[in-house]
Amino acid sequence: MIPFVDLKAQYSGIREEVNAAIQGILDSCQFTLGSEVAAFEDEFAAYCNVQNAVGVNSGTSALHLALLAADIGPGDEVITTPFTFVATVASIYYSGATPVLVDIDPRTFNIDPEKIEAAITEKTKAIMPVHLHGLMSDMDPILAIARKHSLLVIEDAAQAHGAEYKNHRAGQMGDMACFSFYPGKNLGAYGEAGMVVTDNPEYLRKLRMLRDWGAEVKYEHVLKGYNYRMEGIQGAVLRVKLKYIEEWTESRRAAASHYDRFFAGSGLVTPYSSPDYRHVYHVYAIRVSNRELCQKSLQEQNIQNGIHYPIPVHLLPAYSDLGYKSGDFPHAELAANEVLSLPMFPEITREQCQTVAQAVKDSALAGIAKVS
Ligand SMILES: *Cc1c(COP(=O)(O)O)cnc(C)c1O
Repeated sequence: MIPFVDLKAQYSGIREEVNAAIQGILDSCQFTLGSEVAAFEDEFAAYCNVQNAVGVNSGTSALHLALLAADIGPGDEVITTPFTFVATVASIYYSGATPVLVDIDPRTFNIDPEKIEAAITEKTKAIMPVHLHGLMSDMDPILAIARKHSLLVIEDAAQAHGAEYKNHRAGQMGDMACFSFYPGKNLGAYGEAGMVVTDNPEYLRKLRMLRDWGAEVKYEHVLKGYNYRMEGIQGAVLRVKLKYIEEWTESRRAAASHYDRFFAGSGLVTPYSSPDYRHVYHVYAIRVSNRELCQKSLQEQNIQNGIHYPIPVHLLPAYSDLGYKSGDFPHAELAANEVLSLPMFPEITREQCQTVAQAVKDSALAGIAKVS
C-alpha cells in the first residue's frame, strides 16, 4: 500500500523530542497559551519573515480573527476564489461580510488577478488569495490592485508554510496571513491549531485580544472576543516540528521533481512550476479527464489518492445563497472535475513515486487520463 500521507512515519523520526515536549506541558501545566505557545509564535513569525504571530486554535479561527481585526463585517465584501477548502469562504461568513468569488488561473489553480478588478465594488474591503496546494498566488498584481483600490490583502496560507513568491515567504506580503496546523498540513499539530502573522502592531493587539475574550486585562472585555486560544501542547509540539519543516519541505520538493520527471513527455498536466515560485507541495495534483477510472485503477493497486477539491464552493449546497450557478467559474469547475492528488509526504521514496506515476500513466495511455 502507498499511503496518501504518512503521519506515523513522521512521528517515528521525532518521537523522543515530541514526547519530551508534551511531558514538559504536563509538568508545567501551561495547557493553554503559555511560554511554549509564545516561543512558537516568535519562531514561526521569524520563519515567515514577519514581525508578529498570534497562535489560535485552528486555521479557520485565524481567518475569522484576521477579518475581525481588520474591522471587516456586515455590509462589506471580501474577494476570494471558489476553488478552495470551504473554510476560506466560511470564515468570511463568520465575520458577517459577503464573499465575492473570482475564477482561477487554470495553470496555477489560484485566483486570477486579471479577473479581480471586475469584482470590486464600493463595498469591497479585502482580497483573500488562497495559496492552494502550497503554491503562492500571483501576489504582485494582487497587491497592485489592492493598493489602487485601498483594499487589504489577507492571505489564506493554510497550505503554504514556507512557500515563496519572488523570494518572499507566504505570510510576508499580505497585511495579515493565516496558517493552519491541522495534522495533515505541511506543519501539523497533534490536534488543532492555527496562526495569524502580521507586521502591523494594531492588528497584533486586536488579534491577541480577540482570541482570548477581547480582554487585555483579565475580565476587562474591550472587544467581543472568542475562545480561540492555542493549546500549550500544540505550541510545544509545533516548536519541535518547526525545526524540521525545511528538511521536510525539501523532501516534498524532491518527491515532486521525481513525479515531474516520471510524467515528463507523457502529456499529463503536472503542477505549475516556475523559478519565481517555491512550491511546497502540500498537495501534488495532476489533471486527468477521466478521473473516476484513473482512481479505480490506483485503488486496485493500493495507491491512496485524493481530490482537492471535487466541488467548487459556489456549487456547494451550503453556499447556494451566494447566488452563483454552474458555469459562473468555468476554470474552477473544470479543475474540480479533473484534479487528482497523488501520494505526497516527506518520507515518500523515489520508487514509490515511480510506482504511482506508472500506474497513472498506464491509465493515461489507455486513453483514460487527459492529454494536454
Ligand atoms: C485547512 C485549511 C483551512 C482551515 O484550517 P483548519 O485548521 O482546518 O481550520 C483554511 N483554508 C485552507 C485553504 C485550508 O486548506
